[in-house]
Amino acid sequence: FSRRQFIKGTAATAALGAAVGAGLLRPGSNLAQNSSLHNSDLAKGVKYVTTICEQCVWRCGVIAKVENGVVKMLEGNPNHPNNSGRLCPRGNAGIETLYSPDRIKFPLIRAGARGSGLWRRASWDEALNYTAEQMTKIKEKYGAKAMMFNSTDNLSQPFFEILLKAYGTPNYGTQRSLCFNAMTTGFLYTYGVPQPGTDYSNCKYMIFTGRNLAEGISNSETQEMIEMVAKGVKVVVLDPRFSKTASKATEWLPVRPGTDLAFFLAMIHVIIKEKLYNPEFVNKYSQGFEDLAAEVQEYTPEWAEKKCEIPAETIERIAREFAAAAPAAIAHPNWRTSNFVNSFQNERAIAVLNVLIGNWAQPGGLIPDQELNTVKLGVLSHPPFPAAQGIRLDGVPWQYPMVPLAYGVIQTMRDNILTGKPYEAKGWLISRQNPVLSIPERQKTINALMKLDFVGVIDIQASDTAYYADVILPESSYLERFDGLIPIKNKLFIRQPVIEPLYETKSSLMIYKELADKLGLGEFLPYQDEKDLLRKQLEAFPVTLEELQQAGHYEVENFRVDHSKDFEFQTSSGKIEISSSIMAQMGKKAVPTWSEPPRPDKDHYYLLTGKTAQHTQMFTQNNRWLLEVFPENRAWLHTSVAAKIGVKSNDEVVLESEVGKVSIKAYVTEGIRPDCIFMVGGFGHVSKGLKAAYSLGASDSALHKTVTDPISGSSALSETFVTVSKA
Ligand code: SF4
Repeated sequence: FSRRQFIKGTAATAALGAAVGAGLLRPGSNLAQNSSLHNSDLAKGVKYVTTICEQCVWRCGVIAKVENGVVKMLEGNPNHPNNSGRLCPRGNAGIETLYSPDRIKFPLIRAGARGSGLWRRASWDEALNYTAEQMTKIKEKYGAKAMMFNSTDNLSQPFFEILLKAYGTPNYGTQRSLCFNAMTTGFLYTYGVPQPGTDYSNCKYMIFTGRNLAEGISNSETQEMIEMVAKGVKVVVLDPRFSKTASKATEWLPVRPGTDLAFFLAMIHVIIKEKLYNPEFVNKYSQGFEDLAAEVQEYTPEWAEKKCEIPAETIERIAREFAAAAPAAIAHPNWRTSNFVNSFQNERAIAVLNVLIGNWAQPGGLIPDQELNTVKLGVLSHPPFPAAQGIRLDGVPWQYPMVPLAYGVIQTMRDNILTGKPYEAKGWLISRQNPVLSIPERQKTINALMKLDFVGVIDIQASDTAYYADVILPESSYLERFDGLIPIKNKLFIRQPVIEPLYETKSSLMIYKELADKLGLGEFLPYQDEKDLLRKQLEAFPVTLEELQQAGHYEVENFRVDHSKDFEFQTSSGKIEISSSIMAQMGKKAVPTWSEPPRPDKDHYYLLTGKTAQHTQMFTQNNRWLLEVFPENRAWLHTSVAAKIGVKSNDEVVLESEVGKVSIKAYVTEGIRPDCIFMVGGFGHVSKGLKAAYSLGASDSALHKTVTDPISGSSALSETFVTVSKA
């Protein structure tokens, strides 16, 4: 789309959404009974069921049209704040996830060598007994700490965490260190909150560095970004690649990878030098301004130009424009910031830039997390957890003293399986995660899985990691199961089955519960079934589960966010810390500072990775509908690079890094810096169980080096350099 067509399309979609919202669905109503269309459908054996999408982690509201027990269509729920009636391509393709011929249809126990792809069918009782026996054997022989647990961000994650804490291990991995550790740590150390919100609707000036909302779709945020563009708000995008977000921006700045930090430090320099900051806000709410002013003296726009290759006068102009739009201006905190070791410093600089213009809790600025508070669900009562014995295999805090405990360092956990230090892990229970395709150095991850005594996987399809499992416990798809309730501000939403499970699958809520029972830990997950658990979560609210199921959501009356208090910041000083107390305590420079990123040698290129709008990380590549619109990833090469090696688009090229080599089709374009090669992640699957996606494209995990930022634990994925040649 051109900018004009894009905006027109947006307006048309908005009108459609409004019509659906007004005509068919009223808040809190019985959806089926409040629509003449729905009434006529009912006679034909059609029903509409509200639920929540799980094609990514954004949790949009969905209305499923079910005809005689078959899901015919998924539409966005206009009552849901995460999507306001619209689904993205992945959300629309959820039906294929449900009816995929590659679903795991019953529990499987490995019958050949690990990784051979040979399993035998097992009953649930046998598969859960086998899993519990293996986990018990490990606990008795090596202690609970020898068992590692890993899960994705999902609605049943809290119950997985109860299971592992009850088991008694300190070893739990999420994939945050491959995604947003640098961002959350940078903001935590500055504001005392890991992730403030952003008021797009009132914002007048937005700077994005790496938040590619047109491709890394977070539905409502993407819509808000589109509305900003349509309104003519100034949007500046720093990206070495002409991403789809860059194509909609007012200004695209093709920054040298790893040097956005220089750009932001120079902006801070200009804003302080020209006294464009908000002195009242800075004096009242922050500490460390004088130290910052001294530090950035040397970071002139001319200095930054040499680093980031953006002209000094552009940096100066943007700094002035940004400050002039204050407080309705945002330097966006970003999301996936696992790029360079200096990404943490970059996030600190971004956080501080927002402090200088005083946009905290202002229209068009950052939104404090107290504003994002939600109603509190009822919790399960269970005995106290046993004390976890042993230090953590991800190195927090003994190897990484500054990484917040909740974040972890998954790549180090994998490495420690291989070294056996400080002690040897023996088992890994993985719930809907795919470390084989996500952690750098894929072969190392496979070697680690091969070394363990036991690998158990809970998943819907045979992911690359499930392919190396001893047992696969098949989960029902999100259209067949309940999960924990979702509170969003003053509303509760429910994910519920729109049809009965098609095969011998179970919800993860029941898999965790029944596994806990087999392990003798049933008292920690004290519910009979999913409905029993949901009723416990609903105990404090005057609504029944049946009412919630019928309406799809429940609005809590008299829910208030307390705006009366002055700002409170959960930092050691109680103020916003331009100069971080934690950094100072650790003997590090306490204000944002320059840190030189590595550069590729001659004939080497930065390897950049990112998302496409049609797929979610490693999860949707086997979805045949999505493969129709995005069939495989290709390596973006600048035209000059393609000419040098003599390739055109769709020719096969070989990318080679220090740790691996892949073959992939080329995509030749002017839309990338000549020193960079870009590929979408999530392709190059090794599991033959993913029959549609197997062998399509290439995996960045086969190329990425393992480099870790010691402060945030973030993986520095863009510090991998590759050569490229014609295949
Ligand atoms: Fe589903 Fe798309 Fe929403 Fe993600 S953003 S929950 S995939 S509709």
